[in-house]
Amino acid sequence: MSSSPPPSQSHPVSDAASPAQVPAGLLARLPKVDLHFHMAGTLRPATLAALARKYDLPLPRPLETLYTYRDFYDFIDVLRIAAQAIRVSADFERVAYEAVEDAVRSSNARHVEMSFNPQYFMPTGVAYRVQVEGLAAGLRAARQDFGCSGLLIASLDRGLPLDSAGHAMDDIVGQRCDLVVGVGLDGPEREGPPAKFAALFQRAGRAGLRRTAHVCEDNQTLEEAPPSNVEACIELLGCDRLDHGYNLLASEDALCRARERGVYFCVCGVTSVARRQRQRIDGVRRMVDAGLKVSLNTDDPAMFHTDLAHTYATVLEGCNWGWAQARAFSLAGVDACWLDEQARQSLRHDFEREIALLDNEMASMD
Ligand SMILES: [Zn+2]
Repeated sequence: MSSSPPPSQSHPVSDAASPAQVPAGLLARLPKVDLHFHMAGTLRPATLAALARKYDLPLPRPLETLYTYRDFYDFIDVLRIAAQAIRVSADFERVAYEAVEDAVRSSNARHVEMSFNPQYFMPTGVAYRVQVEGLAAGLRAARQDFGCSGLLIASLDRGLPLDSAGHAMDDIVGQRCDLVVGVGLDGPEREGPPAKFAALFQRAGRAGLRRTAHVCEDNQTLEEAPPSNVEACIELLGCDRLDHGYNLLASEDALCRARERGVYFCVCGVTSVARRQRQRIDGVRRMVDAGLKVSLNTDDPAMFHTDLAHTYATVLEGCNWGWAQARAFSLAGVDACWLDEQARQSLRHDFEREIALLDNEMASMD
């Protein structure tokens, strides 16, 4: 059975009132973890175009503007093409490998936990085993080549019928792979409150899988994604980690309870919708200020034109935070990750050693 990770040993240190801006080079070299990002959202445009060509799928526009969306539904259309263009084990392997390569090269990622939606590949008849074998092969090859470990989170889409989620869970618990350590839940909350998935998540828990869920996203109203959903995810779904969580700020009581439970929030600093960017940054700032445990992640890095280093820079700049908060985000990612305890401790030790060296560089710039 899963257990809650130990409490963070590094509560964010306050930066000075006007913290020195962290040089981009130093921020890029800060070791990082990404715990909340979706496989389809990592697809390089050139890779999506190559795979679409392979399967004779038309793209809506040229490569250069493929990830420039007219609106949210246009983004969903691109995601749909991505789901149709990844079919055989080698496709999944390529996508997973390139996702890690990009995270390492841009941002010094040292550990990633990639979500994938088994249900997206049901219409094209791609077996769960094919998906997982390919993804695991990609993560293992990337670990070999780049020294960045990778785990998988099989995520259910709350917008699809419950029996589809049930079939996916049959595969997830029936065809275990050691790299698939947890399950997630994504899609707009208005299409399915957490309680709807309680039985499925409890089944995952009995199978020894960790659990997370997208909750309280800021593109949903308080009626669609109320703060009480956080409690439902913890109590009914058994989540020890949550994705997003911004709407929680609307309830002081719910916020206090989440803080007492010590649940980690894997927030994302960059959103696809430009007009929501300021709101997102404010949400992250207020969650950190409220004393919640917060790690910083990318969501759909390629499709949102971001990476870990850019996400860190965007949030630090938007919140007027400096190096102390950058290192706090980095270490929170390690504390929240789902590596086994020995590997997690080892990763934390590595991060502390590397960060100490960067501390010296940062200090010498003052
Ligand atoms: Zn997400």
